Amino acid sequence: MDEFELIRRYFDLQVSSPGVVQGIGDDGAVVAPAAGFELVQVIDSLVEGVHFLPDADPSDIGYRVVAVNLSDIAAMGARPRWMTLALTLSGKDSKWIEQFAAGLHTAAEEFDVVLVGGDTTSGVAVVATVAITGEVEQGKALLRAGANVGESIFVSGTVGDAAAGLQLLSLDSQDDFLTARFCRPTARIHLGQELRGRASAVIDISDGLVGDLKKLLVASAVGAEIDVDRLPLSDALRKRFSVDEQREFALTGGDDYELCFTADPELVKDIAGVTAIGVVTAGQELICMQGGNIVDYDDSGYRHFQ
Ligand code: ADP
Ligand code: MG
Repeated sequence: MDEFELIRRYFDLQVSSPGVVQGIGDDGAVVAPAAGFELVQVIDSLVEGVHFLPDADPSDIGYRVVAVNLSDIAAMGARPRWMTLALTLSGKDSKWIEQFAAGLHTAAEEFDVVLVGGDTTSGVAVVATVAITGEVEQGKALLRAGANVGESIFVSGTVGDAAAGLQLLSLDSQDDFLTARFCRPTARIHLGQELRGRASAVIDISDGLVGDLKKLLVASAVGAEIDVDRLPLSDALRKRFSVDEQREFALTGGDDYELCFTADPELVKDIAGVTAIGVVTAGQELICMQGGNIVDYDDSGYRHFQ
C-alpha cells in the first residue's frame, strides 16, 4: 500500500467541520479560529520502546497519543479544535495501522477534535507524534504561574493508578481498571474549562504529582504543604498494593494525566471530582506531611516515612 492509499484509507475521514477551511489533502491545512480567541499549541510523541512496548495494543497507542496531548490542552483551560499526526512506521502491517487509526479516531471524536493533516514516514522504530491546536478566550488561558499563598491545592480524580497499571503490565499481570488508566488516560478537558477564571495555576500530572506540583510552585514562586493522607486513591490501587506502594505510586508515579491546581476553595466548591490535598505556602519548599510527620522523599522516587 502506498502512502497516499494509507492516508486515504485510515486517516482521511473526510470530516467537514466549521473552522476547517482545508483539511487533509493539500500542502497544508487551513483553519479559522473564532474571533476573540487565542490559540494554544501542544505536541507530544510516543516512541516505541520508550513510551510503549513493541507488542502494545495499537488502538491503545492511537488513543493515548491523542489523550496525552488533550491533557495539556485541558491544563491550559482550552477547547481542543484541530490536530496533526506525524507517524513514523517500522515493521508494522496494515492491520496494526488500522487499529492504531481506530484508537486515534476514537479519542478525537470523544473530544471533538479534527485531524487536519500529518506526515507519514518509515524509520527504525514506531514514533507517533500528535500536535493539537486549542482555542481559549483572549487572556483566559490557565498557566502554571499564578498560585497565591493561602490558597488550597487540588487534584482531580485519583492518583497513582497509571504507574500501578504499568507495573502490573510489565509483570504480565492485569487489573482492568489500573491498566486502562495507563493505556487510555482520561483527558480532563471539561474540568480544565470549568477552572477558567477560578483556578490561579494549573498543571497536568504526566511525570508524577510531586514532580509536576514542584514545576507549578517554581513557576508561581511559592511553596506548598500537602497531606499524604488526603491523596485521592482508587479502590483498585488500595486493593492491589501495600500502603507504602500506594503512597509511592500516588506521589511519584507518572502518566495519570489528572489536573493539579491551586484555588480559593470557595471558588471551586461546586466542582465535582476534585480533592483538596494541601495549601500554598510562602517560601520555596514542597513539604509532604503524614500523621503530623514530614515524609521524606526525593524526585527520583519515594523513600520512606520518618
Ligand atoms: P506533502 O508532500 O505536501 O507534505 P503529503 O503527500 O505528505 O504532503 O501528504 C498529503 C496530505 O495528507 C497532506 O494534506 C498531509 O497533511 C496529509 N497526511 C499525510 N500523512 C498523514 C497522516 N498520517 N494523517 C493525516 N494526514 C496525513
Ligand atoms: Mg507539499
